[in-house]
Amino acid sequence: MRPFTFTSAENTMQALGAVKGNSKYLAGGTNLIDLMKEDVERPEQLIYISKLEYNKITGNADGGLTLGAMLSNAETANHPEVRKNYPLLSMAMLSAATAQIRNMASNGGNLLQRTRCPYFFEVSMPCNKREPGSGCGAKNGMNAVHAIFGYSEQCIAVNPSDMCVALAALEATVEVQQPGGGSRMIPFTDFHRLPGDQPEKDTNLQPGELISAIHLPKSIFSDHYYYLKIRERSSYAFALLSVAAGLQVNNGVINKAGLAMGSVAHKPWKLTKAEAFLAGKKPTQANFEAAAKLEMIDAKPFKENKYKVEMGTRAIVRALTQAFEREA
Ligand SMILES: Cc1cc2nc3c(=O)[nH]c(=O)nc-3n(C[C@H](O)[C@H](O)[C@H](O)COP(=O)(O)OP(=O)(O)OC[C@H]3O[C@@H](n4cnc5c(N)ncnc54)[C@H](O)[C@@H]3O)c2cc1C
Ligand code: SF4
Repeated sequence: MRPFTFTSAENTMQALGAVKGNSKYLAGGTNLIDLMKEDVERPEQLIYISKLEYNKITGNADGGLTLGAMLSNAETANHPEVRKNYPLLSMAMLSAATAQIRNMASNGGNLLQRTRCPYFFEVSMPCNKREPGSGCGAKNGMNAVHAIFGYSEQCIAVNPSDMCVALAALEATVEVQQPGGGSRMIPFTDFHRLPGDQPEKDTNLQPGELISAIHLPKSIFSDHYYYLKIRERSSYAFALLSVAAGLQVNNGVINKAGLAMGSVAHKPWKLTKAEAFLAGKKPTQANFEAAAKLEMIDAKPFKENKYKVEMGTRAIVRALTQAFEREA
């Protein structure tokens, strides 16, 4: 590991004020420290932020909920308000990693965890995300776990988070504190970005911005929800593909569907066509199948990840079926 300086921030002003050159915020460290050990991340300064005040869950005037960015994934997923009103989020978060990692991992850090593309982790291989201009090893190489939507010539990696798939389905908003003072809100679908010709950028955060909270709108999917995670083993594994499904059903008709897919694109992939199709329809198998087909028709797989197209279609139908049949 390369040498770095360490600054422990007591409050937001100290954290934002410490940013200079190639600094990185350090929360749980479950991703950043691994990447530093592999020589993928090379910060000159770590700014420790876990003591900052964003460690609460609070109700909002509009009926929604605010999740502090420094809370651990375990504290968030197991919080009574989250379990009761946002069980889709709780289910997605509890499917991630292991109990030990969920105890360390913070909500802010989860949003910024980096791709699990094997070429990104191996510094002797070409990777435009790690080293812009060096090429993409995965495009004509091992691409079994890579994107089928929204990729570019430069990068075909996927976002690996489970939490973020649920946040996309729930239409969350991310609050960030800015280095010059002030804050701004970013709709979740605009938070992560597609790779385009700058695959080194995972998000639309500006340099030095600090995630302070995640805002959830008023809960509407607490009766009908499901997070389906398909992976190679039942614990300690990232998703090959996942679907977060929430349904608001009134008098036998879908009023609103919240749907997103994970591990298929550089960002959590919101299933907007399926959502629009399902609104006003009955929650039948035929409608779920039609919604899934509408989304998956645009998939463009690579040599080793063709399986994701059929798997994706079936996963959308299964997640919707489980969500509808689930009784709160
Ligand atoms: C073995 C293993 C298995 C895993 N399996 C899964 C899985 O199945 N599903 C899944 O979703 N995740 C999985 N993870 C990833 C895990 O969820 C992330 O590593 C974790 O959420 C990152 O949070 P952290 O607080 O440790 O972040 P850190 O490692 O501290 O930071 C990660 C990045 O976020 C930045 N950062 C952190 N907090 C902030 C903030 N508030 N504002 C601005 N920048 C910030 C840091 O600078 C860094 O760039 C796994 C990890 C491991 C090690
Ligand atoms: S897919 Fe992206 S992360 Fe993977 S090798 Fe290509 S550029 Fe790097």
